[in-house]
Order: sequence, then structure tokens, then C-alpha cells
Amino acid sequence: MKAIRRLTVRTVLPEPLSALTELATNLRWSWHEPTRALFEAIDPEQWEHVRHDPVRLLGAVRTERFAQLAADGHFTDRVAAAAEDLRDYLTKPKWYQNLENPPRAIAYFSPEYGITAVLPQYSGGLGILAGDHLKAASDLGVPVIGVGLLYKRGYFRQSLSRDGWQLETYPLLDPDNLPLTKLRDRDGHAVRVTIGLPSLRELVAQVWLATVGRVPLLLLDTDIEENADGGRDVTDRLYGGSPEHRLHQEMLLGIGGIRAVRAYCAISGTPEPEVYHTNEGHAGFLGVERIRELVEEHGLDFDEALAAVRAGTLFTTHTPVPAGIDRFPKELIAEHFGGENGNPGVPVDRVLALGAETYPGGDPGCFNMAVMGLRLAQRANGVSVLHGEVSREMFGGLWPGFDAPEVPITSITNGVHAMTWVHPLVTELIERELGPEAMRAPFEAVGRISDKTIWEIRSRLRAELVKEARRRVYESWLARGASAAELGWTGSLLDPNALTIGFARRVPSYKRLTLMLRDRERLVRLLTNPERPVQLVIAGKAHPADDGGKRLVQELVRFADEARVRHRIAFLPNYDMAMAQTLLPGCDVWLNNPLRPLEACGTSGMKAALNGGLNLSIKDGWWDEWYDGENGWAIPTADGVEDPDRRDELEAAALYDLIEHSVARRFYDRDAAGLPTRWIEMVRHTLTTLGPKVLAGRMVQDYVQRLYEPAALSSRAAAADGFAGSRELAAWTKRVRRLWPMVAIEHVDAEAEPDGRTEGGRRPRLGGGLRIRALVQIGELAPDEVEVQAVFGRVDEDDQLRSAALATLEHLGVDEMGRNRYEGVIDLEQSGPFGYTVRAVPKHRMLSSSAELGLATLPYSG
Ligand SMILES: *Cc1c(COP(=O)(O)O)cnc(C)c1O
Repeated sequence: MKAIRRLTVRTVLPEPLSALTELATNLRWSWHEPTRALFEAIDPEQWEHVRHDPVRLLGAVRTERFAQLAADGHFTDRVAAAAEDLRDYLTKPKWYQNLENPPRAIAYFSPEYGITAVLPQYSGGLGILAGDHLKAASDLGVPVIGVGLLYKRGYFRQSLSRDGWQLETYPLLDPDNLPLTKLRDRDGHAVRVTIGLPSLRELVAQVWLATVGRVPLLLLDTDIEENADGGRDVTDRLYGGSPEHRLHQEMLLGIGGIRAVRAYCAISGTPEPEVYHTNEGHAGFLGVERIRELVEEHGLDFDEALAAVRAGTLFTTHTPVPAGIDRFPKELIAEHFGGENGNPGVPVDRVLALGAETYPGGDPGCFNMAVMGLRLAQRANGVSVLHGEVSREMFGGLWPGFDAPEVPITSITNGVHAMTWVHPLVTELIERELGPEAMRAPFEAVGRISDKTIWEIRSRLRAELVKEARRRVYESWLARGASAAELGWTGSLLDPNALTIGFARRVPSYKRLTLMLRDRERLVRLLTNPERPVQLVIAGKAHPADDGGKRLVQELVRFADEARVRHRIAFLPNYDMAMAQTLLPGCDVWLNNPLRPLEACGTSGMKAALNGGLNLSIKDGWWDEWYDGENGWAIPTADGVEDPDRRDELEAAALYDLIEHSVARRFYDRDAAGLPTRWIEMVRHTLTTLGPKVLAGRMVQDYVQRLYEPAALSSRAAAADGFAGSRELAAWTKRVRRLWPMVAIEHVDAEAEPDGRTEGGRRPRLGGGLRIRALVQIGELAPDEVEVQAVFGRVDEDDQLRSAALATLEHLGVDEMGRNRYEGVIDLEQSGPFGYTVRAVPKHRMLSSSAELGLATLPYSG
């Protein structure tokens, strides 16, 4: 019989235990081992059964057990101590509280969040990064408000068919059983956020609040009765199928998200954000909504509002893969932002222009969310140094007149949240040897810890993984239809002492899941080598619509099923955060072999490094930046090779060579005590030098200092005196765009500075100066509205400037022909071929870079 309605009966805890409710709903438990241990102590068996989920645990434990614990003084003391510790964590001043005049609040928008496996609202790296960002912000006291959607089905669970084909199930989530509370106004009414859809339809959402330490995360959910057919399903799953479905999700995230933030700030009395950070393009409509607010509530026109919005917006791009960029048919956008659903202050043609691909190679029929993200944000960044470079090339068309290095997209390299990703055993064993004080400076402590302990840490983590892999493979085979009697072999699957290489990630083609299968016989020899065996643990989900990816999974699973290797290679289905937390620490080597430079950053290798794992990777993303020759291995890339097949072959061969000749040899090279001392040295070096860099705390500090603070300053300048700044900037921009065609550089010359030694003709020499003079027509513009710059540096055979430097020339007045005279001296610091040019760019105190308007005039060269 099917019930017609369901409800959740909440446990009422005895008074001495009441703090457990807050300890369970504040997600800090997900990175705080002592709180988790407290929940485990309530009922260790149930704790396993509910998969380490405190909310479900409190619902599953019997009343008698709570009564017993309430009478147990030792236990109630522990609860009180944990509650006090949480209160301290939530209220004490942190790093951010020592900054001078920082942003009052920052809104952070992301389509997915990976905070813990019990809140499966993520599909991969983007979401987990967002979760780590919130956690690190909380640790540092950064006043971030997170905004996202609550998907009823989250991301799918992966299992395998008998013949290795990926199967997907979408377990239904019941918000009442998740660590969430409903956002209510002061009268206790559940908050409603409404957005308009075409044909005067309304979409209504309720708002859930997840508490991530100090950070509130608002999740919008359309599964409520007010919504007509279809409306309820907008937040049914992560990344809806049809373009229209996705668009509705993204309108809800961006537009509804802003409205949810307004409601939250009003109810909680917290300050409104001064900075809006969008994690990829999906939430880009937040800028359109803020334009609407400013037009309607402050009487700005579209351009003035745009200037104000840009000042406080930061856009982070996450992928150089064109298929990873979100695009919609233009008509669909026109239909949703025009007609009856339009707004006179936000004309549909202006909205369309924000996402138009107006550069060579762009598609005129497409609306591009990344392009809109860049146009709505005065500041933008990629997620590793290399990805920054690639993004400046890729989006350079939006700043015509500027070479890639000057495109205003900077980079901040991703990081990972240590307390989430370092296995508790690591901390435990370091403390055992050096005392708890050691964890105040953990990366320095590693320098003092003995080889023996380092090896014990590595060996125990590997053993945990082997145990877990056996359990998962056994269960997977049962689900694939095998009987327990056939599965005896899984009890000796993998060897707790063998060199263990891991590979786990989503399965888009550029990540090349099956590169390792390129030469199967060679791989088999590595796996079955009698003296130096290598074993592989692999996991990864293909996108449900990607049959190509599923074929790769199947190819790998079938290989792993072969009797000759199945004890040395395991495919673990359903990669998620819970699995990652055992898998990553347990691997001696973490493998990554993407097609360079398509991995924007990659974060799983950082998580491995924090546990003493060594990376074996193509020099892409973060590894390109931080590989130092001693902290792991770089797989040589065949970058210039055009034929993809040939390239795979070369790179796979290099991978096998490295494993065989370097990695395995070093791992099995033991001293008299049986320790691989040279390996341990690499582990120690990785922890001490890479450890501090790969942290999400470092990343969030970078965001605050390099982007949030400047954005807040711009935003304040724009909003001051009734938005006088934005009005001025918008009017000025309009004027400069109109008058710019009159700017012309009419004459340039240069002369070496006298150096007191040479007689007669002066010649440029190293260490000397070069005086550059330019005559520039600026039409009706004023001299302080134009900056004239010398651009100089090394040139190649085609006279192209490489890694050019800039110097501003000084305005010296106007000559008899009305031309403005500019002059300056540049230093000649490099010998060899050198070149320079001069250019004029617009200048205004509220621009964040001279490239911002995409206007530049170079000397006429016939
Ligand atoms: C860290 C992590 C990712 C992202 O890993 P990449 O190396 O960036 O591909 C994906 N899924 C899970 C479960 C993770 O923990």
C-alpha cells in the first residue's frame, strides 16, 4: 500500500543532550573529527548503518539509548564540551577580523556544492571546490553567504551491469532528513522567492539553510505545492536535461538567488553583500537581477546600473573545454527576458548583448553564459597559472586591441580544505610521536617526524584502502549478479604492501580514463611483476548522457574483470566524497593524465599530496605550477603532436616507462630496516613544501586580498553619493566610446640616453635608457582621459613582442599643430633583439585595468 503523504517525526532529545541537534545541523561536524567521534559514541553500529550521517543517526537511535546517555555524566560532559567548542568556533575573531575595512559580506553563487557525502549536491570538482571554499571562508571568519539550488535527486548513484555498463539511479532526497532548516521570516512563515517565466507564469521556491560552520548556505527548492505542473521539477536534478530546463534552473539560481539573499539579510539583520562571486557562468543572471534592482529602486539607467554591478562582481572561469561552457539558443533567452516577462528597465536587446559571441569564430545564434559572466564582472580569474594563460587566449576576443597577456583575467590557483581531506590517522600518528602541540604547525612538524612513522602512516592508509576496496568490489559483484560463493577471490584483492596507484575523476574524454590501457600487455607486465608489482585502484562516473564516457568505463571494467589481473586492479563504482576520503589517502601515487592544457586545475592530486601521496601527472593545471622535480613525477607531454592517436601513444609509453623505471624502483628500494628511505624523503618533501600551498585557506586568502577587497572598494566608489560614481563612469564610457575614433598616434621616435662615456652618436646599450617621444591627437578628449604607454621587450623573428612590459609616458603639453606631446624613458635590461611600440588607451580612476573597455590605438603602420 502506498502512503498518500509522508512526514518526518523529529526526535526530541532529553535536555542534557539537546545540544546534539545543533552539532548535527551545523555541518562543521563534517570536518571536525572530535564531533564525529561523539556521534559515533552514541551508537557505533547505527553510525555505520546511517553512513556517518548525524541527522539520520539522531532519527534512528532508540529513545531508551538517549535516556541512558542523558544519565551518563561522562557523555553529557563531552556533549557540553563539543557544544562549547562549536560556539567558540562560531564567535571568536579569526584572520578576517584583523583586516582593515574589508568587504562587509560576500555572496558566493554556485550551481553545486560538495560539502559532505550526506548532502549529495555535487557532480565533481566544481562543487567540491565550492564546498571547500565555504569551509575555508568559515575557518578564516570571512563573511560569505553561499547561494545554490537544492536538487531533489542530487547527482546519480553509479552501479555496474554484469558486462560493465554504467547504470544510474537517482535516490530521492527528503530535505527533512538532511542537515537543513527552512528559512523563515520573523513571524515564522516560510520564505518564498518568486521569479517570472514566459506567459506570465510564476516560479516559486522555498529556501533551505545549510549552516557550514560560520557560513550560511541558501538553497532554493521549487518542489512546493504553489508551483503548477513542471514548476515543481525545476530543481529535480543537477544540470537538467533540456536547454529550457537548465535555463529555468539558472534563472532561479541567479535571479531567485539574489532575492533569497535579500530575504536572508533582512531576516537575520546581517549586512548586504558588497561583492558577488560567481563560480562559473551558471549563476550569471544574478548580474541582470541586480541591474533590475538598481534601475527600479535607485533610478539608474541600464548603463549606470551595469557599471555599478560590474564594480562589485567577480567571475571565476573553470574550464577551457568548449563543451564545458554553458550556451543557450538566443531565441530562448529572448523569450525569457522579453515579451510579457520583460522589464522596461532591462531591455531584452541589452540582455542579449551581454551574452553575444561578438568575436571572430563566435556563433551569432548563441547566448554564452561565460561571456555574459565576463561582461558583468569587472574582475575575473582562472583557477591555476596555466589556466589563467589559456583563458586569456580563449576569451581574448572580448578585448580587441590587446594581446593575450593583457586580457584582464587573472588567476588564483585552487586549493583543498585540509580538515576535510587529511585522513584522521595522519594527524593521530603525528601527534603520537610529537605531541598535540605539533599540529599548530603541521607542515613543519613533518620535518621532525621519523621515517618509521611516515612509513607507518602510509602503510596504514594503504591498508585501509585495500580493506575498503575489497568490500566495495565484493558488493559491486553481488549487485552485478554474482553469488557470494564465486567471490572468495575478492578477500585477497589487492596487496596491502604493494605500490598502489590511484586514478579517480569524472570521465569526460579529455581526462583520458583509459590511457593506461593503451598497451595492455605492457600494463599486465607491470601489474604482475613478481618483484615490483604495481596495483591500480580506479573510480569515475561518466555523465549520464555521455555514452562515449560509459564505453570508456566499460572498457576499463572489463579489463579489470580479467582473471589474470583482477587481483591487481579494482574499479570501485560510485565515486563520491565518502570514497575519496579513503581512496585518496590510501594511494602511494596519484595519477592524472589529461590532455594538456584542458585540466583547468585539478584538485584530487592536492588531496593526495596532503596525505603524503606522490603525484604522477601530466604537467597541466596545478601540477604545471608546483611540480619541482622532487615531489613526484611529470609525464612528458607530446604537446606539438597533432594526431591525437599518436599523441596518446607517446604519452602512454612515457607513462609506462616512468612507472617501471622510476616509480616502482624507488618504492621497492628498501634499506636494512625495510624502509624505502628515498621514497619517504619524497613524501616528507611533498608534505612540507606542497602542503602549505595546496590549502583552500591559502586560496580564500588570495581571493580576499587580490579580488574581494579591490571589488568592495570599487563597489563602494560606484555606490557612493547615490551612485554618483557609476553615473559618472557610465556617462564617461559612453563619451569615450563615441570620441575614441579621433585618437591617433601621429609620430613616434626614440633616442638612447646619454651615458657620459660615448662621444658622437649614441647607441642603445644594456643598462642604459631609451627616451621615447610620441605625438598624439586626442580630439575632444582631455589629456587626463587618455594614457599613452610605451610597450616594450624582447621581439621574435616576426617583430612580435614577447612578454612585453609597460611604461606610462608623461604628458608634456601640446605642440603648435595641436598634437599632445608624451615622453618617457625606458630601461634596457636585456641584450638581444628588442622592440617597442606606443599605444593610447582610455584612462579613468574607476577602471580596473587599461584593457577594460577593449579600446586601444596603435601607431598607424602602413
Ligand atoms: C576532489 C574530487 C573531485 C575533483 O577531482 P579533480 O582532480 O579536480 O578531477 C571529483 N570528485 C570527487 C568525489 C572529489 O573528491
